Amino acid sequence: MAAEIENLKAMGVKIVNNVIVGKSITIDELFEEGYEAVFIGSGAGLPQFLHIPGENLMGVYSANELLTRTNLMKAYREDYDTPIKKFNKVAVVGAGNVAMDAARVAKRLGASEVHVVYRRGKNEMPARQEEVEHAEAEGIEFNMLNNPCAILGDESGHVIGLQCVRQELGAPDERGRRSPVPVEGSTWTLECDTVIIAIGTSPNPLIRSTTPGLTTTRKGGIDADDMAHTEKVAVFAGGDAVTGSATVIMAMGAGKNAAYWIDEYIRRVNGEPKAEE
Ligand SMILES: Cc1cc2nc3c(=O)[nH]c(=O)nc-3n(C[C@H](O)[C@H](O)[C@H](O)COP(=O)(O)OP(=O)(O)OC[C@H]3O[C@@H](n4cnc5c(N)ncnc54)[C@H](O)[C@@H]3O)c2cc1C
Repeated sequence: MAAEIENLKAMGVKIVNNVIVGKSITIDELFEEGYEAVFIGSGAGLPQFLHIPGENLMGVYSANELLTRTNLMKAYREDYDTPIKKFNKVAVVGAGNVAMDAARVAKRLGASEVHVVYRRGKNEMPARQEEVEHAEAEGIEFNMLNNPCAILGDESGHVIGLQCVRQELGAPDERGRRSPVPVEGSTWTLECDTVIIAIGTSPNPLIRSTTPGLTTTRKGGIDADDMAHTEKVAVFAGGDAVTGSATVIMAMGAGKNAAYWIDEYIRRVNGEPKAEE
């Protein structure tokens, strides 16, 4: 990774740190500074929440916060500035690959019990089979067919439980997945001191809300065509910012594709010949 960054610098790429596009500077201001094209690759890092009571209690994390603090900020080390509090019993809401990552990290951080809570059944889990098997091998427990309806706290504002309603599977939805249907009178509480929400992320609205002329998809991604062109002249986009949360390999492909079309665009507006294939 460090070597790749050095390679880019050696090719003449200037890396400007600590800039939030949309706050420190806008895309239109970048054009005023003389940039001829802009590529947006800002990802889909905005965590989604359940919007249930108790999500502001102490001991509730998004999976992104937990994993960022653990993996990038060394929060597992007690001598660090922002250590993560000790877990004992953890509920992870969601059943995708990120939920499996979060559950296993919580276990490795010392939790005695980690429960994955998911409103559908095991067959409907979005996580890859091997991710589920690895989680099971590490002792993660699975509470399928349970929909969280509230996070409970004590008088000092710390999590003490996750209230859930049991579900059964009903008719398939438009994507063919059977929909969860609440079982009447089945509310129960999973005792826990930590709740990790891992129900997906979406593109942050900051750039699109500060860039007139950009349009967005129904899911909040930036509209871009196969040549990475957005609706705004000279602005290109790719990766999770366009597709929503996907994979590294897709984002790398999108970056490569966009680089080709940005080069083509700059040559065209400057009347230069096309690059050799
Ligand atoms: C916990 C987790 C585990 C994952 N595991 C896998 C896996 O095993 N395999 C896999 O293929 N994929 C995995 N993914 C998905 C993968 O990380 C993404 O699909 C991929 O990183 C998307 O690349 P990107 O370049 O589009 O965006 P990102 O990698 O998200 O990069 C976007 C960058 O833009 C920056 N940024 C955002 N907004 C602004 C702004 N306004 N101004 C300036 N900078 C900004 C962000 O800080 C970030 O550095 C995982 C994702 C998560 C969250």
